Amino acid sequence: MTARKPGLIALFDVDGTLTAPRKVVTPDMLKFMQELRKVVTIGVVGGSDLVKISEQLGKSVINEYDYVFAENGLVAYKDGKLLGTQSLKSYLGEEKLKEFINFTLHYIADLDIPIKRGTFIEFRSGMLNVSPIGRNCSQEERDDFEKYDKVHNIRPKMVTVLREKFSHLNLTFSIGGQISFDVFPQGWDKTYCLRYLEDFHEIHFFGDKTYKGGNDFEIYESEITVGHTASFYLYTYAFGIANRYALQSTNHHSAIESSSSSSSSSSSFRGNDVSLPFPVKQTAKRGVSKQ
Ligand SMILES: [Mg+2]
Repeated sequence: MTARKPGLIALFDVDGTLTAPRKVVTPDMLKFMQELRKVVTIGVVGGSDLVKISEQLGKSVINEYDYVFAENGLVAYKDGKLLGTQSLKSYLGEEKLKEFINFTLHYIADLDIPIKRGTFIEFRSGMLNVSPIGRNCSQEERDDFEKYDKVHNIRPKMVTVLREKFSHLNLTFSIGGQISFDVFPQGWDKTYCLRYLEDFHEIHFFGDKTYKGGNDFEIYESEITVGHTASFYLYTYAFGIANRYALQSTNHHSAIESSSSSSSSSSSFRGNDVSLPFPVKQTAKRGVSKQ
């Protein structure tokens, strides 16, 4: 493998970023990531557990990326080896956990919504995923619930109640997807994985839900990262990084000049980067000024 740019990592959200929502990664994307890995260190950070991430990105995911952070980094792998784990169970303790689960199940039992299915609380190592309709509903039922929730605010109301009742536990409630919300200790969002990346002076993060309330918001906004909003155009974005170092290694000046001559309709990836053929929204933070 050729020498990679030291101190730089390209870190990607999984669902909606490397793959279409809830879909399996495409061969093109896999190939692109292999190419990207030749020039920079690459990592993924997903909210799902490793089983689900493997379903989307492939069984050998922990060997195909330098870093794999499942459950926002509560389960962390580097070079195919486990780096560390943290769990809700050990953090909260069984008593507090039980109190929360009992209350939540009672609340759902008393909830009058059109249909209910199964798996109302999914217990993950670092979070609880709570679904008023139940996670094992069909796609059609899922779509219907999402519409119903938009009108009746089932999830926002439930979160308000739980947040107040369990304020002493310092929990974060994050409504995401169509049918559920996540519950986890404060700070256990995607920024959790950054503790494993202290050796990198430039961390580019790519995610689709970088808006306030989205599950990429905190890491996108973090002072430690250079944030990029990326969804369907993801690999074109990342291709900017690959190009950047390819260009810099062969012709320093052309890489720098390309940004100053870019047209106003297309934003440059970074000040000294190649320009991209669509608008790029990115945050300007510590990582940017450092170079
Ligand atoms: Mg996503």
